[in-house]
Amino acid sequence: MYAPALLPSPAPVPPAVLAAEAALLVRDGPYHVGEAYFANPDGAAIQRRWQAELQVRAEARAASVFAECVYCHDEILPSQESVLLAGARLHRECAHEWDCFANGPTEAEMKEQMDGFDAPVEEAA
Ligand SMILES: [Zn+2]
Repeated sequence: MYAPALLPSPAPVPPAVLAAEAALLVRDGPYHVGEAYFANPDGAAIQRRWQAELQVRAEARAASVFAECVYCHDEILPSQESVLLAGARLHRECAHEWDCFANGPTEAEMKEQMDGFDAPVEEAA
């Protein structure tokens, strides 16, 4: 026979998991998790906890994958604009720089660069 008082206490559930679980409960109700129906609400609660843990892990993984720019290797802050290029996340400026390197400048940029050459040259008196 085991003495439950001597068993290690279970690890506390992270608040993000509890929040995701509460959102699932509000969205699906006590007898459903997603499209799955559970006759026993305790079974639905266990499935809801697994679903919430899975969701939180997936969000953390997605955040860590896209945290670094593959061009300059700096962190992409949430306030910065980023572009998804061939499955890799880049700063918008880095994506433009890469595009210019790979494909040359755009027609508008070429015109902008050529404007200086079209200016009339003043002759020295
Ligand atoms: Zn960058």
